[in-house]
Amino acid sequence: MSLPLQPQNTSSQARSNTGLVFSTGIHRVLNACIDLIFPPCCAGCDRVDQFWCERCQLTLESLPIQNVIKQDVASIAFVAATGTHDGILRKAVQGLKYRNVRQLGEELGIRLAATARMQEWTIDIMIPVPLHADRLKQRGYNQAQVICEYAAEQLELPCVPQALKRERYSQSQVGLSAKERKENVADAFSAAPNLVSGNTVLIVDDVCTTGSTLNECAQALIAAGARQVYALTVTAAITA
Ligand SMILES: [Zn+2]
Repeated sequence: MSLPLQPQNTSSQARSNTGLVFSTGIHRVLNACIDLIFPPCCAGCDRVDQFWCERCQLTLESLPIQNVIKQDVASIAFVAATGTHDGILRKAVQGLKYRNVRQLGEELGIRLAATARMQEWTIDIMIPVPLHADRLKQRGYNQAQVICEYAAEQLELPCVPQALKRERYSQSQVGLSAKERKENVADAFSAAPNLVSGNTVLIVDDVCTTGSTLNECAQALIAAGARQVYALTVTAAITA
């Protein structure tokens, strides 16, 4: 006699399954009510009904790659961005980061991969800038990792998020001066030598403002034995 592969449905499980169906039903009704009171609106144009509308998607898809280059980030050989931090690109980055529009990760990853192909880089591994565990818990996902995974797939390179860790919780860089940004992320990261040593690394993030976060990541990677570090971001803020 063969044993069943799945445990049989006991009466208590049946009751809990019924409860699950019931609570899922309530959840759906509640969500529908919330949508009626607070309808979703597009992160790009605020048009009601969708979190990211087709018109904004078309605008994003047709936006040329600007290939913005920053060469003033001390520990990094080269920083490239797909465009400047404005217009639809900025809205898309913010939609992914703050408004939970995860579908944007794919288009932004495609742009990132296209920008990477414009450079003369030989990359071994790609690593997203990590969030601290507490922030990851709050947000539910790391937007840099979402973008990095799509880009790595396009470039057929390994995405190794576990190679870099944010050890220290630091406040958001938004609104801080260049000096404050540098201090805010100083020694915040550590890298795993067994994953990094001898490799040329491409760090991925959504935005590069002063480059202080990328610089700290690069320092941790170099300390762990990385041969060379490049960085790629969706947008770069061009500051004086
Ligand atoms: Zn829109």
